Amino acid sequence: MTLPAEDQAQDRQSAKPPRHRVVIVGAGFGGLEAVHRLAGADVDITIIDRRNHHLFQPLLYQVATASLATSEIAWPIRYLLRNRPEVTTLLATVTGVDAADRKVLLDDGSSVPYDTLVLATGARHAYFGHDEWEPFAPGLKTLEDATTVRRRILLAFEWAEREPDPERRAALLTFVIVGAGPTGVELAGTIAELARDTLPPDFRNIDTDKARVVLIEAGPRVLAGYAEDLSAYAQRSLEGLGVEVELGQPVSECSAAGVIYGDRRLEAATIIWAAGVRASPAAEWLGVEADRAGRLLIGPDLTVPGRPEIFAAGDTVMIAAPDGKPVPGIAPAAKQQGRHVADTIKARLRGETAPRPFRYKHDGSLATIGKRLAVIDFGWIKLRGAIAWWIWGLAHIYFLIGLRNRLSVALSWLWIHARNQRAARLITQGQVARAVGGAGFAEQTKAGDNKAGAETLSQRERAG
Ligand SMILES: Cc1cc2nc3c(=O)[nH]c(=O)nc-3n(C[C@H](O)[C@H](O)[C@H](O)COP(=O)(O)OP(=O)(O)OC[C@H]3O[C@@H](n4cnc5c(N)ncnc54)[C@H](O)[C@@H]3O)c2cc1C
Repeated sequence: MTLPAEDQAQDRQSAKPPRHRVVIVGAGFGGLEAVHRLAGADVDITIIDRRNHHLFQPLLYQVATASLATSEIAWPIRYLLRNRPEVTTLLATVTGVDAADRKVLLDDGSSVPYDTLVLATGARHAYFGHDEWEPFAPGLKTLEDATTVRRRILLAFEWAEREPDPERRAALLTFVIVGAGPTGVELAGTIAELARDTLPPDFRNIDTDKARVVLIEAGPRVLAGYAEDLSAYAQRSLEGLGVEVELGQPVSECSAAGVIYGDRRLEAATIIWAAGVRASPAAEWLGVEADRAGRLLIGPDLTVPGRPEIFAAGDTVMIAAPDGKPVPGIAPAAKQQGRHVADTIKARLRGETAPRPFRYKHDGSLATIGKRLAVIDFGWIKLRGAIAWWIWGLAHIYFLIGLRNRLSVALSWLWIHARNQRAARLITQGQVARAVGGAGFAEQTKAGDNKAGAETLSQRERAG
């Protein structure tokens, strides 16, 4: 019989002399880095995550565009920590924190006590107050999101192949990406390559290379966080791949029919949301101040104001970099914070003064656009084109976990590069029904399958 998490933790303690208990919520980049850095410290660690895997989010778009398989960018957390006997991994969803009693609350009603707590629960995409758009415009944050997007992209081509009506076929072959940050740019470029390089020989009734890929951005340029010349290069590269770039155009509606942006309406079966993020509810759990994106406002030592025993790290926090700008929501920043948290915990346990305040070091920004097309801004040097693409590829392979995955991803990329073949073109999750009138999706899902598809079906049925 499985004991509630609190009982398990108490059982462990009764067997051994009590050690300092560190509970880490979130096995993303920040949480996992803290665990690694705490190796050798005189602590018992419990790491809690609602998923059983650590996910390499920077390559999620490659799963969404059928370039990589899910198992190439995710690893079971339990497996990653198998050689750390002092670390207990719990698969559970945290629903709150009882800071007065020093307990983390779980969704099954149990709780896990801590002496030190680290919250590294990341962020999710946000729809600027229009959550009703989510069923029509899924975002990209989890493996489920990526396979949902992949399914929709591949289904759109399948349905277009069988669609006699030219207008509906055109809508099925229109792919809209909202938001031209790195994820939007990467998605747009790769979908264009999928349509133009990979799919043409496989279809008989449609020219997949006539598919429209439309990248819509409310701001004045793509890759707004990059230097202007790199943004301009990225836009030219996208247009060279056939992507239509629409700038200064806020989206005002997403529906099963398509999008409305600026004063235009565009019929499109596939919409992907790559704009806006919202932090996990960590600030709400603690009842402390957050910024507009819900990010916890933490002190320079990464602790929660008034709670020196609670740290927070990664995308769920807002802290200023040395230049006064917010530390960006990227993996290296989360890892640096995870390391700093662990160093502070270790210093406190040794009775030493805490290390100096957290200081973010930006090593550079990398974004890929397509094959042999990427931009890199190291600050001291800017790179673009093939050289940037090779560096981007090598860096990402380096940061993957394990030799097998590095080899596997490198081989997949070489294959795409040499043969234009994308091996992960599998339509999974749920049965498939033809759309009932109009362009939008009507995915008939089994009970418990993807909610977005089910909602879309009922919308479509009403429309039909
Ligand atoms: C599509 C995409 C592309 C990206 N590309 C890049 C890139 O190219 N380069 C780059 O540097 N960064 C990139 N990022 C950003 C980068 O992935 C994040 O900055 C980084 O993952 C943040 O790390 P984190 O530890 O704060 O959160 P995460 O890595 O998101 O981890 C949070 C963890 O907390 C768990 N969790 C959340 N809530 C709960 C709960 N209530 N209970 C239990 N567990 C919970 C989650 O399951 C997850 O495992 C990208 C992000 C996305 C989504």
